[in-house]
Amino acid sequence: MAKIQVKTPIVEMDGDEMTRIIWAMIKEKLILPFLEVDLKYYDLSVQKRDETDDKITFESANAIKQYGVGVKCATITPDAERIAEYKLKKAWPSPNGTIRSVLDGTVFRKPILVKNISPAVRNWKKPIMIGRHAYGDLYRSVEMVVDKPGKVEFVYTPEGGPESRLLVHQFKGPGVVMGIHNLEKSIRSFAKSCINYALGENVDVWFSMKDTISKKYHAYFKDIFAKEVAARQADFDKAGIKYRYLLIDDAAAQVMKHEGNILWALSNYDGDVFSDVVAAGFGSLGMMTSVLVSPDGKYEYEAAHGTVRRHYYEHLKGNPTSTNSVASIFAWTGGIKKRGELDGTPDVTRFGENIEKAVIGCIEAGIVTKDLVPLMDPKPANFQTTEGFIDAVAARFKSII
Ligand code: NAP
Ligand code: MG
Repeated sequence: MAKIQVKTPIVEMDGDEMTRIIWAMIKEKLILPFLEVDLKYYDLSVQKRDETDDKITFESANAIKQYGVGVKCATITPDAERIAEYKLKKAWPSPNGTIRSVLDGTVFRKPILVKNISPAVRNWKKPIMIGRHAYGDLYRSVEMVVDKPGKVEFVYTPEGGPESRLLVHQFKGPGVVMGIHNLEKSIRSFAKSCINYALGENVDVWFSMKDTISKKYHAYFKDIFAKEVAARQADFDKAGIKYRYLLIDDAAAQVMKHEGNILWALSNYDGDVFSDVVAAGFGSLGMMTSVLVSPDGKYEYEAAHGTVRRHYYEHLKGNPTSTNSVASIFAWTGGIKKRGELDGTPDVTRFGENIEKAVIGCIEAGIVTKDLVPLMDPKPANFQTTEGFIDAVAARFKSII
């Protein structure tokens, strides 16, 4: 069979531990035998990042800017333990954080649903997608422990003055303070990316903050979002989709009763928390995909989970593993389908769709990795190894093309 030609390069970012092992298997067994593709390869393993003083991460992000589509394997974000484990020069920042800030992107998560796994939340019938704002708030905060009575103030010194002050608190004893910020430009990009994503997926958009309490900070987000939606109202009407603003606590309750097919746009912290709630509610992290979308239409696809460290240590001991590769496979197919769409090459898009069909087909036929077994109805008699599952997908793919 002739290989399918991919017109424009795809940026490939390799990663760490168990996901690196899976990544290589997917590439070797599911992608390269069928696609003629120019992969711009960047090794984002923690060792390579250390060796290049993290320059490789910036280079890979710039390559996505250039080519428009990237696929990424999970990577280690080093902490003190990892510095010792991998003898690193320092705790390099999260590669995902770096790529997000270079692309000014928003992260969208979407679960993969199959017939024989029911979500823990019974009402969820269709995907609940999460759009998480990726700049500022808690993640760029400054903090201070106050150990004696005293006054804490905000001081704003505009260029050219005059200075203004706001009392945070008059401390009578010890306590703690935090200052957070956000940027008009970043919030606007976030709103734009969410609107584009929802129009692409043809789903309603929910956005939630707590503007009843935070009448300036949270209301600022709400106003920008509402203005960006108003500017695209004609597109919303054409697509038949709606925008709803809800208070965050109301949204959290309503989402439990909703059947799905919505994009829930959330601020940075809320998105951090609720993306894991939604992942757990749908069943397994191994079935959650993630895509970073920049406001100017650059895409980076990955699995939502990490490097599955515990399984990697088993693998290193020579023990068989049963790690779910579904979200990593969908990272590849997500990138390939988008490449086909942007290049106007339907055979490339169809290839990605057929690999996804083969994955779903395997799971629905009871061919799964160990993590899915407890979630399934009916329960399969056995489970596959990491490699066995990928081989089964390859065999099924060959039988459907
Ligand atoms: P993790 O890789 O998400 O795995 C946590 C646990 O969840 C696993 O031990 C496993 O549970 C289960 N799990 C996750 N993905 C699975 C899969 N595909 N198949 C089967 N089970 C799966 O988190 P971690 O092990 O705590 O973190 C490892 C490293 O990942 C950290 O260094 C962190 O920095 C990094 N990380 C990277 C990203 C990213 O690159 N996007 C995201 C998150 C974390 P059992 O052990 O019970 O089988
Ligand atoms: Mg988190």
